[in-house]
Amino acid sequence: MAEFNIALIPGDGIGPEIVSGAVTVLDAVSKKYGHKFNYQEVYMGGCAIDKYGVPLPQETVDICKKSDSVLLGAVGGPKWDSQPSENRPEKGLLGIRKALELYSNLRPSILKPQLKDASPLKDEKLEKGLNVMVVRELTGGIYFGERKKAEDGSWASDTEKYSVEEIKRIGKIAFETAMLRDKRVVSVDKANVLESSRLWRKTMIELSADYPEVELTHMYVDNAAMQLAINPAQFDVIVTSNIFGDILSDLSSAIAGSIGMLPSASLGATKCGMYEPIHGSAPDIAGMDIANPIATIVSAAMMLEMSFGLVEEAKAINDAVDKVLDQNYRTTDIMSDGMKKVGCKEMAKLIAENI
Ligand code: NAD
Repeated sequence: MAEFNIALIPGDGIGPEIVSGAVTVLDAVSKKYGHKFNYQEVYMGGCAIDKYGVPLPQETVDICKKSDSVLLGAVGGPKWDSQPSENRPEKGLLGIRKALELYSNLRPSILKPQLKDASPLKDEKLEKGLNVMVVRELTGGIYFGERKKAEDGSWASDTEKYSVEEIKRIGKIAFETAMLRDKRVVSVDKANVLESSRLWRKTMIELSADYPEVELTHMYVDNAAMQLAINPAQFDVIVTSNIFGDILSDLSSAIAGSIGMLPSASLGATKCGMYEPIHGSAPDIAGMDIANPIATIVSAAMMLEMSFGLVEEAKAINDAVDKVLDQNYRTTDIMSDGMKKVGCKEMAKLIAENI
């Protein structure tokens, strides 16, 4: 029996519904395996702006820092779109990543055989399946670089800047992840144009000397997008910068079917990670009990494995998801002919019952 403190950030839109679904499943794990999960719910995003006037209250940062891990739903929505840029819900997200020093984002995209029809790619492109891990740098690059704009609004600029240290630490995560998989890393950059990408490539090559078993290749980002669409099975691990990773991981997840299925882990220097679905707050379906909770539930599984070392328990969650899909239960986003449609709550309950 083990005890863990989990900070819950339900956030906005469908966030509270899907986090509640994940808690239902975590409670089933705790009952079966005798672990104790202590949850503490905190505000971030639009709901924090409404309550505290800021997207990331200090109290939220403090509680997350003291926790063993953080489980996040999603933040944002049209209600807060008119907020000034420094006070938008997404600022909370960038702020908490920075505060917890979560410099790497791992996004596995796996095509489940049960959901092959949900992929936009033709069957022939999916014959060899899809199992790619996108390792995205999360606290550097253009999203955090210097921003400028002319007072008269006639120009604006953002800056892509990376240090060798930043590239090395994300590279290490990618190589070590590859060591546990098929031992192939594709480093994605734009080294034919960008100075920062040339440093990225040079550093990855130097780092690869420490991982002789891993095959390192390089791809320009435009080609990587094309290759993902025409031959996704060729990839094992992709490592790339913040902005390229943001775009490519959405593409790889779309190939795997619904955005409502895919988890992510953000990790840093400590074992305290932040786990969240890759989708947003889906304001169009919020409060309707039709959101797919699986991405958040499998994010919780990643948390058990990567932050708590509970490998068997994580597998129990993933197996339960497969069982429920095998029993033909589907939420609206992954519904197809002959399947049984269930809501968000019911889907979580079914998964919990299969633990
Ligand atoms: P989104 O991911 O919220 O929604 C895109 C589409 O996918 C919508 O049609 C939505 O209904 C659907 N969808 C998303 N998650 C689903 C789920 N679990 N089950 C079923 N369908 C699902 O992206 P968006 O519409 O571009 O953004 C909405 C808001 O979310 C914006 O305010 C955006 O800034 C924010 N956002 C937050 C995060 C985050 O918190 N990590 C990430 C992306 C976007």
